[in-house]
Formats: sequence, C-alpha cells, structure tokens
Amino acid sequence: MILYKTKEEIGLIRESSLLVGKTLAEVAKFIRPGITTGALDTIAEDFIRSNRAVPGFKGYRGFPATLCISINEEVVHGIPGTRELRDADLVSIDCGVQKDGYFGDSAYTFAVGSEPEPDLKKLLLTTKQGLRLGIEAAVVGNRIGDIGNAVQSHAEAAGFSVVRELVGHGLGKNLHESPEVPNFGKKGHGALIREGLVIAIEPMINLGRRNVKQKKDGWTIITADMKPSAHFEHAIVVTKDGPVVLSTFDEIEKVRNDNIFFVN
Ligand code: MG
Ligand code: MG
Repeated sequence: MILYKTKEEIGLIRESSLLVGKTLAEVAKFIRPGITTGALDTIAEDFIRSNRAVPGFKGYRGFPATLCISINEEVVHGIPGTRELRDADLVSIDCGVQKDGYFGDSAYTFAVGSEPEPDLKKLLLTTKQGLRLGIEAAVVGNRIGDIGNAVQSHAEAAGFSVVRELVGHGLGKNLHESPEVPNFGKKGHGALIREGLVIAIEPMINLGRRNVKQKKDGWTIITADMKPSAHFEHAIVVTKDGPVVLSTFDEIEKVRNDNIFFVN
C-alpha cells in the first residue's frame, strides 16, 4: 500500500533528507587517497548524531554501518571498514538518517583524485542526468514506469546498462516503503503517480553489462563483469506543481577538496 504524505510529514522528510545532504558534504571534505572507508563512516555517524538524528542504515536488517560505501565495481551496499581509498577510485556514498520519526535517503558518486578517464566521467554524468530525467517524469498522472523508462532510455542511449535487481522506493516512517521504483520500465506502466507521493529515485548504472552479484559478506553488490558502476539518489515529493527534490547535492558541490572530482 502506498502511503501518501501530508504537508507535515513532507516537512519532516525534507529535514531528514537535508541532513543527509549535509552529512554527505561533511564526508566529502575528508575524501582523499589513503583514508579508510571506516574513517568516513565514523565522520558521518558523529555528524548525524550531533544533529539530533540517528543513522538510518545502521542496524537496518543487520547492516553494520552508517554509510554504504561502494567502490568501482561495487554497485551499492558496500560495508565501510579498513579499505583505503585510492586515486582514480569511483566511490558511491549512500546515506540515510532518521530524525523525528522520518527517514531521509540520498547518494552521490565521487571520483577520487583528479579528473577521471573520459568513460568514467561519462558514466557519472549520465547517471546523474538519468536521475534528473527520472525526477522530471515523476508528475501527477504519470506512472512509475515512466520514471524508469526515462532513466533507462538515457543510460542505454549512452551505451551503459541499468541494474535491475535493486530499485528506488517509497520513503517516510520507513526507509523502504511502497512503491518500488525501478530504473527501467515501460511508459504508461506501473502505479499511478499522485500528489503526496514521496519516493527515492536512485539509478545504478553500469559501464558494462547490467548483471550483478552479491559478495560473500552478504551485502555488497558488485557488477558481474567487474566493470565500474555509478549511483546517484534523491528523495523527492510529487506536488500538483511538479516534483520537488527534498534531498540536496548543493552542500556536497560547495565542498572545496582537490582530492575529489564531481560532475555538474
Ligand atoms: Mg540510499
Ligand atoms: Mg534508497
């Protein structure tokens, strides 16, 4: 069942989602070759708790950390730990928070170091553009399939592929609610989009083939062909005037750190 949100609820989800954006920006300040993913996770957890909120992922179905940090061929759900970032890594950082009973959820993919190779740069740009096109399709009267179709068409036109096994989702008192929001689909198919729908749209786009598998840690999803993957996610609400983004990349993109590259 889809739980459409009231104005008050949307305000609370916005607060949580903005805190996610600020947390990702705080983490981005510290990204550099040699830092461990575990150190970034601690920075995120401390920042969230100092803002009177709790990490949304920690303990969720047993996930052990605040961030999902997924590097290169890792698509999503990478577990932070002792691994060090290296120059030219593609690093997806996904963060959730729970504040005043409501969740926020957003993700961003950085390149570590200077400007990445053209194919990686194109992957980042295409995934981020796909997210924007997906958001633009989230209008009253459209269907969920229109969102996925927008993402998929854009990714495949660029020569990339769309992960099918993991999808976006409704967001509210729970981190994952109905409906599922695939990054692929047919126009005019799926649930009708109505005012008050709050969803996380999160394209996961692969440089190579679409197939993925899970690592033995029980969490990390990697591409089967070991080629890189990118991931961007926004929480949005559908209003009668169109989609409104509740999370933000603005704080992240204000960060001045010569050790990260991001596409605009
Ligand atoms: Mg997320
Ligand atoms: Mg999500």
